[in-house]
Formats: sequence, C-alpha cells, structure tokens
Amino acid sequence: MIPAAFDYHAPTSVEEALQLLASSGDVKVLAGGQSLIPVLKLRLAAPEVIVDLGRIDSLRGIREEGDSLVIGAMTPHEDVARSSVVAAHALLLSKAAQTVADPQVRHRGTFGGALAHADPAGDLLAPALALDASFVIAGPSGSRTVAAADFFRGLFTTAIGEGEILTEVRVPKHTGWGAHYEKFSRVAQQWAIVGVAVAARVESGAIADARVALTNMGAVPIRATATEQALVGVAVNASAIAAAVAGISEGTQPPSDLNGDRDYRLHLASVLARRAVLAAAA
Ligand SMILES: Cc1cc2nc3c(=O)[nH]c(=O)nc-3n(C[C@H](O)[C@H](O)[C@H](O)COP(=O)(O)OP(=O)(O)OC[C@H]3O[C@@H](n4cnc5c(N)ncnc54)[C@H](O)[C@@H]3O)c2cc1C
Repeated sequence: MIPAAFDYHAPTSVEEALQLLASSGDVKVLAGGQSLIPVLKLRLAAPEVIVDLGRIDSLRGIREEGDSLVIGAMTPHEDVARSSVVAAHALLLSKAAQTVADPQVRHRGTFGGALAHADPAGDLLAPALALDASFVIAGPSGSRTVAAADFFRGLFTTAIGEGEILTEVRVPKHTGWGAHYEKFSRVAQQWAIVGVAVAARVESGAIADARVALTNMGAVPIRATATEQALVGVAVNASAIAAAVAGISEGTQPPSDLNGDRDYRLHLASVLARRAVLAAAA
C-alpha cells in the first residue's frame, strides 16, 4: 500500500509543467490523485517522477466564451456539479458530476483528470461525448484541440500523448436543453455498471433534438446516433419514448464482469435510456 519512491515536482505554470515532462523519462502527471494514487499504492505503476498540476491556477475554473463553456482541466468535480453557469448551459455535465462518487472524492478529483483517465465506467465521458465537447491539449510544440469523438481511443487511452497535458475542455452551449444522467450501480456512490447520458430539446410536447451517449457499454463511451435520430418528433410520453430507445444497445460490445454480464448490460441500457430521456424531456 506504499507507492514506490518518486521525485515530486509542483510547477506553477503549464510551460514549467511541460518542461518537466520533456526532461523526465518515466513521468506521470498528478491531478486530484483519486485514480492515480490508488494505482501507485497498488504498484500498478511506479513512475520515477510525478508532476503535480495542483498549483497551476490557470488550469482551474469555469468561464463562458461566446457559444462555448470552458472548463479548466483541474476544476474539481464539485465545482462543476455546483456551478450555475454549467447548469444553465450544459446541464448534462452538472447532472453527471453530481453522481460521481462521494463529496470527498468530488472535492479532490478533477474534471480533466477523470476524462484523461478514461475509465470506461467513468461518469463524465459519455456526457462530454454527447455534448460534442472538445479537448485542448498542450504539448512541446503548442496546443491542439481534439473533438470528443477522436479523444477516447480505447480502454484508459486517450489522444493525450507523451509529454502533453490536457488544459481545458470546451463545451458548446446547450442553453435551455433538458438533461439527465441515469446511472445504475450496485452500491451507492460508485462507478456506473451502465450509464445513459441524455440532453434533449423539447418543442410543443415533442422532442425536437436529442444527444445520447452510453457509459460502460464498451471500452470507450458510445454515441447513440441512431437513437438520437429516432427520438426526433417523438411525443414526451413513456410508451413513445420506450419504443424510440428500444434499439439503443444494437452494435454495442459491453463487457461481462462481476457486476453484470453482457446480456444484463444490453437490457439495462434500454431501461436506463427510457428513464433518462423521460427525465431530460420533462
Ligand atoms: C472511492 C472512489 C469512488 C469513485 N467513484 C467514481 C464514480 O462514481 N464515477 C466516476 O466517474 N469516477 C469515480 N471515481 C474516480 C474519480 O472521478 C477521479 O477523480 C477521476 O477518475 C480521476 O481524476 P483525478 O483528478 O483524481 O486524476 P488523477 O487520479 O490525478 O489522474 C488520473 C490519470 O489521468 C492523468 N491526468 C490527470 N490529469 C491530467 C491532465 N490534465 N493532463 C494529462 N493527464 C492527466 C494522470 O496522469 C493519471 O494517469 C472514484 C474514485 C474513488 C477514489
């Protein structure tokens, strides 16, 4: 339970952090430590150098920029969950952040850390994908922006390369949209066995536009585009919505594990989708 020894650096700017990453061989970035510290303690990783981003103030905070909401990578989950700006323009992120773990983890763990970690059971990946977020990644040769559809590459793998840092996440405003994140877990305050993220715009009692993505139905979050299309024009009532989301699991490859087998997850996805769409549209 004691990590292997490492050198520790706590830079105060992104430039300094990038220099440290470039000059260190076996190095890991530390954000809130809610995933990395357990990994170190279990000695699943034993980096020689840790670069702690916790003192870089510019990586923390939530701001509006035109049609986008910009969330700094080091912004704690709790700030995202409580932000009135996020609630107004990206309600789905507020709702999902509120379901992450317990208050202790939400105060330490960060928005960017969770997305960079890319745990398929993590609750923020599917909402970011559903809302077409883009990821700003700083590296030795400057910054680049990666769309959510290209950011999640595989199990615990993202587009962030060696020597790079996720600095912020930009989310197109979905002002006035309803949203809901429906998560099923075996015990309270834990990762999703399956989760369904939905944002919906309703006009005259029917769904005019919808964004839907799935948590833990594969190695990466899955955008349910066929379901999004099937929902357009559907009246906001339980039976019509149930029919529109019935095929949401098609083409997904959910894992089988101690929490549930593949068939259980396939069934769960359509049940949770019905609940999530109803709640979002309401
Ligand atoms: C008891 C417990 C329960 C939890 N329950 C949930 C849950 O219900 N739902 C959920 O979604 N999550 C849950 N989590 C995980 C939590 O959300 C973590 O906050 C998150 O997974 C990692 O964020 P972090 O800031 O702690 O990152 P860290 O643990 O510090 O880092 C995680 C990984 O991301 C990399 N990284 C971090 N930030 C950056 C960056 N800016 N640029 C590049 N790489 C970076 C690190 O190098 C590391 O590999 C839980 C954790 C615990 C301990």
